[in-house]
Amino acid sequence: MSADALTLSPTAPSKLSLLGMPAANLVEFFENLDEKPYRARQIMRWLYQRHVTDYAEMTDLSAPLRKQLGEMTTLKLPPVLKHEHSDDGTRKWLLDVGANQAVETVYIPEPSRGTLCISSQAGCALDCAFCATGYQGFNRNLTSAEILGQVVLAARELAGAKITNVVFMGMGEPLANYRNVLPVVHLLIDDQAFGLSRRRVTISTAGVVPQMLKLANDCNVALAVSLHAPTDELRNKLVPINKVHPIAELLDACWKYAEGQASRSITFEYVLLDDVNDSVAQARELVKLLRNRPAKVNLIPFNAFPESEFRCSSQPKIDAFWQTLRNGGLIATIRRPRGDDIAAACGQLAGRVRDRQRVRLGDRVIGATSS
Ligand code: SAH
Repeated sequence: MSADALTLSPTAPSKLSLLGMPAANLVEFFENLDEKPYRARQIMRWLYQRHVTDYAEMTDLSAPLRKQLGEMTTLKLPPVLKHEHSDDGTRKWLLDVGANQAVETVYIPEPSRGTLCISSQAGCALDCAFCATGYQGFNRNLTSAEILGQVVLAARELAGAKITNVVFMGMGEPLANYRNVLPVVHLLIDDQAFGLSRRRVTISTAGVVPQMLKLANDCNVALAVSLHAPTDELRNKLVPINKVHPIAELLDACWKYAEGQASRSITFEYVLLDDVNDSVAQARELVKLLRNRPAKVNLIPFNAFPESEFRCSSQPKIDAFWQTLRNGGLIATIRRPRGDDIAAACGQLAGRVRDRQRVRLGDRVIGATSS
């Protein structure tokens, strides 16, 4: 069944959602109801440790309180429009976020870990030349409930399989939705909630420099930066936000970010596009930028999507690029594509919904808020 044929609900829910609400606000919420502050802890345990979103099941809350909460608030998760299973174990959920918009969440199992890749926006305004989400244009920021709801939903559906890592590498630019992403990050690492270590929560950004610097102070989780080109001339074309925050400024922010992270490095993502950014000379340029810095490089073979004009580099070119980085003293890995049979690989997430409003960086938007 094509996702285009699916019926999407027309509007997002309007009741106050307790999902994704910062712990301090939740305490205040219960205080305002003349309830004990520890109610916040109880709700968080149900939601984030047992993945229960039905008040009726929350047996340590009194029946009148459950009723009141049910009337005033919601714990609704985004409805699943479609759930796919790849041959390699990767799973993908297409979620309805209302107003004809859908986002995708991907789970990638590996022997030693389980990574959940979540979306932060419906569409994306950054318009990176090789990205399916960018091609769709920007629609709106997801709420904290919609972002964290993806984790609750996947955790519940995965039952035994554990989510050990969460990466903001799905649809959207997380740092352009900072206000809603930050509470989610806090809850992912909060022991009262998901309790993941900071090293296992990764924000991936195309380079929204002011927000990178803010994140360094607010919650310095792991950072991945989508570099993709060693020169401004090329990066301006591939990652247009580079025209606003060029490479020197971006790297400066990266090294500042790394200073706050005892011995952890920044991951630089570099998608390999045939004859565009994959020459040995370009690998040498990259070495010059990152040598002797707290950096590691993750090479991503380009994942094609129907409208894309790029091709993936050949295996010998990928290997030569990788070898040049290694010879130059960089730590570099090649990402193995996962879930490509269900279009779940990096940059293939597009929601597959027609009529998305097209708003592009070139038109005006960076960090646009939902209207
Ligand atoms: N907006 C964020 C996170 C989303 S994309 C960012 O730019 O980092 C996660 C990673 O997938 C980014 O590095 C992105 O550049 C990369 N990517 C996008 N499209 C791709 C494609 N078609 N093939 C491979 N990687 C892609």
